[in-house]
Amino acid sequence: MRLLIKNGYVIDPEQGINTGKNLFIEDGRIVGLMSYSDGVPEAAEVIDATGLIVAPGFIDMHVHLREPGHEYKETIASGAAAAVAGGFATVCAMPNTSPVNDNAAVTRFIIEQAERANLAQVLPIGAITKNAEGTELAEIGEMKQAGIVAVSDDGWPVPTAGMMRRAMEYARGFDLPIIDHCEDKSLARGGVMHEGHWSLVLGLQGIPAAAEEVDAIRDCALAELTGARVHLAHVSTRGGIEAVRRAKDKGLAVTCEVAPHHWTLTDDAVAGEQGKPAVTEGAVPYDTNTKMSPPLRSRDHVEAILEGLRDGTVDAIASDHAPHHADEKELEFDQAPFGIIGLETSVGLAMDLVKHAVISLERLVELYATNPARVLKLNDRGSFRSGARADVTIIDSESSWTYVATRSKSKSRNTPFDGRGMTGAAVATIVAGRVVFLHPDFSRLTASRASAANRAK
Ligand SMILES: [Zn+2]
Ligand SMILES: [Zn+2]
Repeated sequence: MRLLIKNGYVIDPEQGINTGKNLFIEDGRIVGLMSYSDGVPEAAEVIDATGLIVAPGFIDMHVHLREPGHEYKETIASGAAAAVAGGFATVCAMPNTSPVNDNAAVTRFIIEQAERANLAQVLPIGAITKNAEGTELAEIGEMKQAGIVAVSDDGWPVPTAGMMRRAMEYARGFDLPIIDHCEDKSLARGGVMHEGHWSLVLGLQGIPAAAEEVDAIRDCALAELTGARVHLAHVSTRGGIEAVRRAKDKGLAVTCEVAPHHWTLTDDAVAGEQGKPAVTEGAVPYDTNTKMSPPLRSRDHVEAILEGLRDGTVDAIASDHAPHHADEKELEFDQAPFGIIGLETSVGLAMDLVKHAVISLERLVELYATNPARVLKLNDRGSFRSGARADVTIIDSESSWTYVATRSKSKSRNTPFDGRGMTGAAVATIVAGRVVFLHPDFSRLTASRASAANRAK
């Protein structure tokens, strides 16, 4: 099996590559980069990537695939299909399934289901504590043997610093990062949106930014105490970003991710006030697709996230893809579950940052490929080093498109971005040398770019 991706623009931040090259793949592994003038290797399938960006396969470190237990929301197969359609070769599945992934049997089940689906690779994240109840450590060693890449009690954060300290010391022994959903429940209790102007106006119970910030600061202090690798999930506040920045300045092994909705929207979206930049025409107040945990924040917090993306404090972009059935999301705002789907809108929303010169394309690849691989110590991906897994994401940075939720590969439709216009998208996803997603217009796109390139000559 030989594959040549020719005439593309290759971006591989790890190797400092940012230039026009052909990428040669054989038997699921990267052979290397070749110049355009080198011939096509014998018997190779060819993908013409003229005018497109060729990057190491994107990794979404934080998704909820709902299987086992809530297959009506999402299955591993439907989630993996949404992943590759969004440009992700690898996704990491959070353990809050039913049963919880707190033992090797569940870990193995997830891996087997993903192998059956044969689309994106799914790397499971194990629970920190049994049943994610925060009282007794889970069987982390056995889960590591079975294939977990990190531990997290995402959604039900470890409540006490003492327990978190023990978890960090334990995880450190297995060289696994702890991924923490920072939320002090005694502060967040009962809250359904960001505490501030709009929660007052709407009469909804607020979740103060401090609920995230105190846990973020706690985790950084514990990272220093234990020497563990600590990764803060979906940071949404200025205080969270600042805690990570300080920890990095001190040289601690602290990293973080942010989610696209947290920089794209502010809390006025809950009031249906959004529109600058517009979500959808006719946004309505109390739309439960604006309810997520952590909640959409106010402008100052969004600015802090953008600064973190710009200055390198933020390591990764992760969607926190959280499918829910329409019947659940149609409840009153107070009653509806937290979370939105995000695998197919993540790259488009991040390309917006490139378009507005917040980040460079190279930085975008770092946030989606280089850094997630580094944080999770996935040494065989995140780069086009020869011998690496042949995971590739091909990006069209120019085409305009509209996200239509009903066409999503996910089983769920809970998104505030239905109908949103975007510029730039993943147009092909290659997993271990196999093309698992090709945009329906791929050939037309490359043909029109090729003729434009010829005209320019
Ligand atoms: Zn979370
Ligand atoms: Zn989550």
